[in-house]
Amino acid sequence: MMVVDMHVHTNLSSRCSSIQPHELLERALEIGLDAVCVTEHSTYKGAQMMYEIALDRGFKIFRGMEVYTELGDMLVFGWNEHIRYYLFPFKDLKTNVESAGGIIIPAHPCRGWDVRHPHRHSLPEELLSSIVALETHNGASTTKSNNQAELIRRKYGLFGVGGSDAHSVEQLGKCVTIFEDHLESEEDLIQALKSGNYRAAYMDELS
Ligand SMILES: [Zn+2]
Ligand SMILES: [Zn+2]
Repeated sequence: MMVVDMHVHTNLSSRCSSIQPHELLERALEIGLDAVCVTEHSTYKGAQMMYEIALDRGFKIFRGMEVYTELGDMLVFGWNEHIRYYLFPFKDLKTNVESAGGIIIPAHPCRGWDVRHPHRHSLPEELLSSIVALETHNGASTTKSNNQAELIRRKYGLFGVGGSDAHSVEQLGKCVTIFEDHLESEEDLIQALKSGNYRAAYMDELS
Protein backbone atom coordinates (compact mmCIF):
# COMPACT_ATOMS: atom_id res chain seq x y z
CA MET A 1 0.00 0.00 0.00
CA MET A 2 1.13 3.54 -0.69
CA VAL A 3 -0.24 6.91 0.38
CA VAL A 4 0.44 9.50 -2.31
CA ASP A 5 -0.37 13.20 -2.55
CA MET A 6 -1.08 13.46 -6.28
CA HIS A 7 -1.12 17.22 -6.77
CA VAL A 8 1.55 19.55 -5.36
CA HIS A 9 3.12 22.82 -6.54
CA THR A 10 6.59 23.89 -5.44
CA ASN A 11 8.40 27.19 -5.78
CA LEU A 12 10.80 25.59 -8.26
CA SER A 13 8.44 26.23 -11.18
CA SER A 14 5.16 27.54 -9.77
CA ARG A 15 5.42 31.20 -8.83
CA CYS A 16 2.10 30.84 -7.02
CA SER A 17 3.60 28.32 -4.57
CA SER A 18 5.79 29.02 -1.54
CA ILE A 19 6.81 25.38 -0.98
CA GLN A 20 10.56 24.91 -0.90
CA PRO A 21 12.04 21.52 -1.75
CA HIS A 22 13.47 20.78 1.72
CA GLU A 23 10.16 21.79 3.35
CA LEU A 24 8.25 19.46 1.10
CA LEU A 25 10.51 16.54 2.00
CA GLU A 26 10.43 17.22 5.74
CA ARG A 27 6.67 17.64 5.86
CA ALA A 28 5.98 14.63 3.62
CA LEU A 29 7.98 12.37 5.96
CA GLU A 30 6.44 13.95 9.06
CA ILE A 31 2.86 13.25 7.95
CA GLY A 32 3.61 9.80 6.54
CA LEU A 33 3.34 10.26 2.79
CA ASP A 34 5.02 7.51 0.79
CA ALA A 35 5.35 9.66 -2.34
CA VAL A 36 4.38 13.04 -3.76
CA CYS A 37 3.44 13.95 -7.31
CA VAL A 38 4.82 17.34 -8.29
CA THR A 39 2.48 18.92 -10.84
CA GLU A 40 3.60 22.44 -11.74
CA HIS A 41 1.55 24.60 -14.09
CA SER A 42 2.46 24.00 -17.74
CA THR A 43 5.87 22.52 -17.06
CA TYR A 44 7.65 19.40 -16.04
CA LYS A 45 10.80 21.26 -14.96
CA GLY A 46 9.93 21.77 -11.29
CA ALA A 47 8.97 18.13 -10.97
CA GLN A 48 12.26 17.09 -12.54
CA MET A 49 14.28 19.28 -10.15
CA MET A 50 12.29 18.06 -7.15
CA TYR A 51 12.77 14.46 -8.31
CA GLU A 52 16.55 14.90 -8.36
CA ILE A 53 16.64 16.59 -4.95
CA ALA A 54 14.44 13.88 -3.43
CA LEU A 55 16.48 11.07 -4.98
CA ASP A 56 19.46 12.08 -2.85
CA ARG A 57 17.27 11.98 0.24
CA GLY A 58 15.67 8.64 -0.61
CA PHE A 59 12.16 10.03 -1.05
CA LYS A 60 9.91 9.20 -4.01
CA ILE A 61 8.68 11.98 -6.28
CA PHE A 62 6.50 11.22 -9.28
CA ARG A 63 6.86 13.77 -12.05
CA GLY A 64 3.75 15.25 -13.61
CA MET A 65 2.32 18.61 -14.60
CA GLU A 66 -0.95 20.53 -14.58
CA VAL A 67 -2.18 21.81 -17.93
CA TYR A 68 -4.82 24.48 -18.43
CA THR A 69 -7.26 23.56 -21.23
CA GLU A 70 -10.68 24.73 -22.41
CA LEU A 71 -12.10 21.73 -20.55
CA GLY A 72 -10.44 22.76 -17.30
CA ASP A 73 -7.14 22.03 -15.56
CA MET A 74 -5.72 18.58 -16.27
CA LEU A 75 -3.22 16.60 -14.23
CA VAL A 76 -0.91 14.85 -16.65
CA PHE A 77 1.50 11.99 -15.99
CA GLY A 78 3.82 10.45 -18.54
CA TRP A 79 4.11 13.46 -20.83
CA ASN A 80 7.12 15.53 -19.91
CA GLU A 81 6.92 18.94 -21.46
CA HIS A 82 7.44 22.62 -20.98
CA ILE A 83 4.70 24.70 -22.58
CA ARG A 84 3.78 28.34 -22.22
CA TYR A 85 1.13 29.08 -19.63
CA TYR A 86 -1.84 29.66 -21.84
CA LEU A 87 -4.84 27.66 -22.87
CA PHE A 88 -3.58 24.41 -24.35
CA PRO A 89 -6.18 22.80 -26.62
CA PHE A 90 -7.51 19.62 -25.02
CA LYS A 91 -7.44 17.81 -28.35
CA ASP A 92 -3.70 18.45 -28.68
CA LEU A 93 -3.06 17.46 -25.09
CA LYS A 94 -4.88 14.19 -25.63
CA THR A 95 -2.92 13.40 -28.79
CA ASN A 96 0.41 14.13 -27.11
CA VAL A 97 -0.29 12.32 -23.86
CA GLU A 98 -1.72 9.26 -25.54
CA SER A 99 1.20 8.89 -27.89
CA ALA A 100 3.57 9.19 -24.91
CA GLY A 101 1.64 6.45 -23.08
CA GLY A 102 0.62 8.84 -20.32
CA ILE A 103 -2.62 9.64 -18.55
CA ILE A 104 -4.87 12.70 -18.16
CA ILE A 105 -6.90 13.26 -15.00
CA PRO A 106 -9.17 16.32 -14.71
CA ALA A 107 -8.12 18.36 -11.66
CA HIS A 108 -10.81 19.81 -9.37
CA PRO A 109 -13.45 19.24 -12.10
CA CYS A 110 -16.22 20.97 -10.16
CA ARG A 111 -14.34 23.92 -8.69
CA GLY A 112 -16.60 26.93 -8.99
CA TRP A 113 -19.55 24.85 -10.15
CA ASP A 114 -21.28 25.25 -6.82
CA VAL A 115 -21.42 28.98 -7.54
CA ARG A 116 -21.71 29.23 -11.30
CA HIS A 117 -23.32 25.94 -12.30
CA PRO A 118 -25.25 24.68 -9.28
CA HIS A 119 -27.03 21.96 -11.23
CA ARG A 120 -24.34 20.73 -13.55
CA HIS A 121 -24.09 16.98 -13.33
CA SER A 122 -22.34 15.96 -16.51
CA LEU A 123 -19.01 16.01 -18.30
CA PRO A 124 -18.56 16.66 -22.03
CA GLU A 125 -18.18 13.59 -24.24
CA GLU A 126 -14.80 14.76 -25.51
CA LEU A 127 -13.50 14.61 -21.95
CA LEU A 128 -15.25 11.40 -20.94
CA SER A 129 -13.81 9.48 -23.86
CA SER A 130 -10.29 10.46 -22.79
CA ILE A 131 -10.22 9.72 -19.07
CA VAL A 132 -10.58 6.92 -16.54
CA ALA A 133 -10.34 9.00 -13.36
CA LEU A 134 -11.28 12.34 -11.84
CA GLU A 135 -9.67 14.27 -9.00
CA THR A 136 -12.53 13.97 -6.53
CA HIS A 137 -10.56 15.05 -3.46
CA ASN A 138 -8.75 18.36 -4.02
CA GLY A 139 -7.32 20.03 -0.93
CA ALA A 140 -7.76 23.54 -2.30
CA SER A 141 -11.43 23.14 -3.27
CA THR A 142 -14.59 23.33 -1.18
CA THR A 143 -16.14 20.18 0.25
CA LYS A 144 -19.20 20.94 -1.84
CA SER A 145 -17.29 20.96 -5.11
CA ASN A 146 -15.38 17.81 -4.11
CA ASN A 147 -18.67 16.10 -3.28
CA GLN A 148 -20.03 17.12 -6.66
CA ALA A 149 -16.95 15.65 -8.35
CA GLU A 150 -17.52 12.43 -6.40
CA LEU A 151 -21.14 12.27 -7.61
CA ILE A 152 -20.04 12.72 -11.20
CA ARG A 153 -17.32 10.11 -10.75
CA ARG A 154 -19.90 7.56 -9.62
CA LYS A 155 -22.35 8.51 -12.34
CA TYR A 156 -19.80 7.69 -15.04
CA GLY A 157 -18.09 4.81 -13.26
CA LEU A 158 -14.72 6.55 -13.17
CA PHE A 159 -11.92 6.10 -10.63
CA GLY A 160 -11.10 8.88 -8.15
CA VAL A 161 -7.81 10.42 -7.05
CA GLY A 162 -6.95 12.81 -4.23
CA GLY A 163 -4.29 15.50 -4.09
CA SER A 164 -3.74 18.50 -1.88
CA ASP A 165 -3.09 21.08 -4.65
CA ALA A 166 -0.77 22.48 -1.99
CA HIS A 167 0.80 25.88 -2.60
CA SER A 168 2.07 26.20 0.97
CA VAL A 169 3.61 23.49 3.09
CA GLU A 170 0.79 23.26 5.67
CA GLN A 171 -1.56 22.15 2.88
CA LEU A 172 0.57 19.17 1.91
CA GLY A 173 -1.18 15.81 2.23
CA LYS A 174 -4.62 17.23 2.96
CA CYS A 175 -6.01 14.92 0.27
CA VAL A 176 -4.31 11.74 -0.86
CA THR A 177 -4.65 8.69 -3.06
CA ILE A 178 -4.22 5.28 -1.49
CA PHE A 179 -2.80 2.70 -3.86
CA GLU A 180 -3.14 -0.97 -3.06
CA ASP A 181 0.19 -1.84 -4.63
CA HIS A 182 3.69 -0.54 -4.16
CA LEU A 183 4.65 1.83 -6.96
CA GLU A 184 8.30 1.91 -7.80
CA SER A 185 8.34 3.96 -10.97
CA GLU A 186 6.21 6.42 -12.91
CA GLU A 187 5.35 3.55 -15.25
CA ASP A 188 3.93 1.74 -12.21
CA LEU A 189 2.00 4.87 -11.27
CA ILE A 190 0.45 5.26 -14.71
CA GLN A 191 -0.34 1.56 -14.90
CA ALA A 192 -1.99 1.67 -11.48
CA LEU A 193 -3.97 4.80 -12.35
CA LYS A 194 -5.34 3.05 -15.42
CA SER A 195 -6.12 -0.15 -13.48
CA GLY A 196 -8.21 1.48 -10.75
CA ASN A 197 -6.59 -0.23 -7.78
CA TYR A 198 -6.74 2.87 -5.56
CA ARG A 199 -9.05 5.30 -3.82
CA ALA A 200 -9.09 8.96 -2.87
CA ALA A 201 -9.23 10.09 0.75
CA TYR A 202 -8.95 13.04 3.09
CA MET A 203 -5.84 12.59 5.20
CA ASP A 204 -7.69 13.37 8.43
CA GLU A 205 -10.02 10.43 7.77
CA LEU A 206 -7.10 8.00 7.81
CA SER A 207 -6.17 6.55 11.17
ZN1 LIG B 1 -5.71 23.78 -10.97
ZN1 LIG C 1 -2.86 22.77 -8.98
